[in-house]
Amino acid sequence: TAAEIPVRRYGGLKDQDRIFTNVFCKHDHGIKGAMSRGDWHKTKDILLKGDSWIIQTIKDSGLRGRGGAGFPSGLKWSFMNKPGWEKDPRPRYLVINADEGEPGTCKDREILRGDPHKLIEGCLVAGRGMNATAAYIYIRGEFYQEASHVQQAINEAYAKGFLGKDACGSGYRFDVYVHRGAGAYICGEETALIESIEGKQGKPRLKPPFPADVGLFGCPTTVANVETVAVAPTICRRGGSWFASFGRERNQGTKLFCISGHVNNPCVVEEEMSIPLKELLEKHCGGVRGGWDNLLGIIPGGSSVPVIPKDISAQVLMDYDSLKDAQTGLGTGAVIVMDKSTDIVSAIARFAQFYKHESCGQCTPCREGTTWMMNMMNRMVEGRGHVREIDMLLEITKQVEGRTICALGDAAAWPIQGLMRHFRPEVERRISEFRQVNGAVGFGGHLASAA
Ligand code: NAD
Ligand code: SF4
Repeated sequence: TAAEIPVRRYGGLKDQDRIFTNVFCKHDHGIKGAMSRGDWHKTKDILLKGDSWIIQTIKDSGLRGRGGAGFPSGLKWSFMNKPGWEKDPRPRYLVINADEGEPGTCKDREILRGDPHKLIEGCLVAGRGMNATAAYIYIRGEFYQEASHVQQAINEAYAKGFLGKDACGSGYRFDVYVHRGAGAYICGEETALIESIEGKQGKPRLKPPFPADVGLFGCPTTVANVETVAVAPTICRRGGSWFASFGRERNQGTKLFCISGHVNNPCVVEEEMSIPLKELLEKHCGGVRGGWDNLLGIIPGGSSVPVIPKDISAQVLMDYDSLKDAQTGLGTGAVIVMDKSTDIVSAIARFAQFYKHESCGQCTPCREGTTWMMNMMNRMVEGRGHVREIDMLLEITKQVEGRTICALGDAAAWPIQGLMRHFRPEVERRISEFRQVNGAVGFGGHLASAA
């Protein structure tokens, strides 16, 4: 089982093994500062090693997509180089998903702001690996400063000859463009993002076909997260086995974690995968506000994954398998900590409102289901629901989960399922206390107002 896979080398990440050395933008984010921190070092040599070498190195590193889904990156990039790709006349694109919008998530923002050259060099290296000739960086509309830092890095890279028709003197042509979004969460879904770059409404497409077959402008495309691409040059310089030496099997490498909520020092920090959750909080965040005993629960991977209570939080490792076993997920690595002062029912209801608002509305279970979930959660918050409605709400989440075009439907359903799995007595207590104070109200009346 996953629990039996040993952690390979856990001991806490040392400074010399950190890839992101300018979190919080304390140093120069421009090319001078970036080169002094090791960026653009022997990039030409990496490019000359060719596509197969780059893809194999990424496969050896065990890197998995850092945007939330955790799909193996080497495998995903290799879909671009299917046998016979050379005969396909279509251009090929790399698209960077910098539309970081998952509640609780603020890690890519640190890369865009403090280490933009890692991303630009990563675009070139990953682009060479998948034989793309251009990268589009789709940046969340609210990220104004980040977009300007990235554009500055692109301009500097062109000026130095690192990008363009002879990138780094390798003979390989590669261009990078910035595209700014306009603030829709759904545009972070890869096919909605592609539609948005194409100038259409950001509505997800059915998959398959996956973008590697039919992507941007109908051409082979890989959409990858900022962090995933930004670590590629360091992996190629230091070796796949170096990256794979952190964490444990299937959960390798280092990872940016963003920790918010009721900790003493909320922060973004790079750590080894598979670090125990409790240790992550105590080592980097000064622990839970009021001490560990004051903890109510933790959402370990952004708003799309279920909450876990204190006793489970004490046991899990921050990796894909451990958190999956705990019926939650690593997601984006955004850890939201809630102490006992938290109204957990209200917190999950707030997520329900968010997903209802952000649903693009093109498939019925999501469009209707997110509205029902929001309305029923609001009734629970206000104590106006009926205990019988808890199972009805859970049934609605099941009707949405796995039945929609994109993952937003699942993301709306899972937090509610997590709430009822671990905090059902609290929901029941609110309902019964309200009913004792206000007297029983007809079930039918409640449902009419929920709809
Ligand atoms: P997904 O599992 O559908 O896909 C992951 C990636 O693998 C995609 O690029 C997809 O094209 C590729 N892929 C999967 N199967 C494939 C196949 N058979 N052939 C070729 N390619 C294949 O997940 P997703 O919808 O991309 O992401 C969902 C996750 O995103 C959620 O779990 C959530 O944690 C996260 N998320 C992140 C943010 C953020 O701000 N970073 C925002 C919202 C959601
Ligand atoms: Fe749109 Fe929701 Fe369907 Fe995704 S699941 S395509 S957000 S309606």
